[in-house]
Amino acid sequence: MSLRNLSDERLIADTKMWNEKEEHCTRQFLRHINEVNRRRLFCDDKTGSLFKYIRKNFNKSDSETSRRVLAAKTLRHIPGADKALANKQVTLTNLAEVSNLVGNIKSNKKKNEILNCIKGKTQTQTREMVDELTGKKRATKFKTCAHSDGSLRMHLTLVGQTAKDYEFIKEQLSNKGIYKPDEVIGHIINSAAESMRKKIKGIGSRKSKVITNKRAISAVIKKAVIARSGNKCENCGSKYNLHFDHIIPYSISGSSAIGNVRQLCSNCNARAAIVALSQGKMDLYINQS
Ligand SMILES: [Zn+2]
Repeated sequence: MSLRNLSDERLIADTKMWNEKEEHCTRQFLRHINEVNRRRLFCDDKTGSLFKYIRKNFNKSDSETSRRVLAAKTLRHIPGADKALANKQVTLTNLAEVSNLVGNIKSNKKKNEILNCIKGKTQTQTREMVDELTGKKRATKFKTCAHSDGSLRMHLTLVGQTAKDYEFIKEQLSNKGIYKPDEVIGHIINSAAESMRKKIKGIGSRKSKVITNKRAISAVIKKAVIARSGNKCENCGSKYNLHFDHIIPYSISGSSAIGNVRQLCSNCNARAAIVALSQGKMDLYINQS
């Protein structure tokens, strides 16, 4: 039936109904991705993170994906948040804004206080509350637009300490003849990227922070595994949070020979442990909130 033939009343009623259904579907989607996360199932897809898994499989933009991943995280940390979302007391955006804050808080009472604070608040009010509680001022990004030639257009507003840091860097760079805002921002990004690349290359070196079972894996085996893996997760290719993992777990007498040792990122490492040792056992270690 064409919508053109609907009465005004029916059109308004149906629009309301579809909105209710959309909100219900969104809540169900968040519940489901949380269970996918608990099982680390995205590792079977070799995506290595929930964000990349959703981007790859569900035709959503970066911002839609990050909003859902962050809101789902808040739902994991505050059980009452699901009900507040269903009752339209909070929005997906509000929940996403407080996700990192509640992720670092242990007290359930405190988490519920934060939930009560964001009820009925706009995104800006929620951000201000988070900034006040964390004592941080952020660089606010208003608009990002990617172009087909690989360039990225951004509309940035720098506030608080970030704006002061920018002025400081700009002043220092003026000694090198760099004055224009785009050159200053370019220099900041290039320097940060260079420093991060150096840090990544350092993984696996003697000063590395790679978490290993020192009792079980010798330096020679670790070096050989790194040579084989290229210092990347051997399942999803991630370069971050790498661990040495026993394919047959050490706890059930898996050997530390090179054929039984691999490099995995923390998520793929958790997924491998779930498959080998059971979800129930691993929930005690990896899914505490
Ligand atoms: Zn991985």
